[in-house]
Amino acid sequence: MADVAPQRDAARVLVTGGSRGIGRAIAISLARDGYDVTLNYHRREDAAEAVLAEIRSFGGAAAALAFDVSDREACAKAIVADLDARGPYFGAVLNAGVTADGPFPGLTNEDWDRVLRTNLDGFYNVLHPLVMPMVRARAGGRIVTISSAAGTTGNRGQVNYSASKAGLIGATKSLALELAKRQITVNCVSPGWIETDMLAGADATQLAALVPLRRLGTPEDVAAAVSFLFSTGAAYITGQVLAVNGGVL
Ligand code: NDP
Repeated sequence: MADVAPQRDAARVLVTGGSRGIGRAIAISLARDGYDVTLNYHRREDAAEAVLAEIRSFGGAAAALAFDVSDREACAKAIVADLDARGPYFGAVLNAGVTADGPFPGLTNEDWDRVLRTNLDGFYNVLHPLVMPMVRARAGGRIVTISSAAGTTGNRGQVNYSASKAGLIGATKSLALELAKRQITVNCVSPGWIETDMLAGADATQLAALVPLRRLGTPEDVAAAVSFLFSTGAAYITGQVLAVNGGVL
């Protein structure tokens, strides 16, 4: 892809969990598309700094914003301060997510709460302060959530994670209906197995054998779908779930 310098006053996009894995690839892809990207991270400031440096190396515009998407108060505080300082967003990618896997009887209260609070409450915590300024800007917009195959088909050992990711799909579809008349599209990307830290410990060869395309996905495979949903060509697509999973049905 050719390097694209951001336009003057480029539209702002927030990518949660933009410091590593899939979120990192999404932040870089949207910056190459000309968006002014704010990448959120939680703990790994070093990783966020590395993504900023990479984006700036090709002339892209980016800033970092630390907050925990599961902490409602902290989220609102960071986002409102950012909106006051830099103005409304054109779009957001709700990517930050965690797992705490195990057979259902063995899940702890902490396993359930952490996954639901991060993956599902994060949707509310981040978008609630963000949406009305987007609407008032009257510039349309794009929201993309990152769900998972576990949210559409279920997965053994991931009752908590599947619940959070299925909930995200319902929230996406309903918000799409509410925001459609504002020309703000809300869609979901549902990745299959993608090679990131989240898959550490899994047997990549074994998993790849289950995929019709016979390989695991890359973060860039997912980022390309998000970039498409942010493009002008996707303006008439809303409330949809786009699977990026190598053909797993
Ligand atoms: P990684 O574990 O590689 O990266 C997770 C990212 O989320 C990091 O940037 C991390 O920031 C951030 N993050 C985690 N918790 C929080 C929090 N509470 N607040 C803010 N940021 C947070 O994950 P992936 O890139 O693999 O996953 C990205 C998304 O894709 C997730 O929603 C995941 O569920 C989904 N997905 C992944 C699949 C896969 O196979 N990898 C398959 C299907 C869906 P920091 O480093 O600062 O903690």
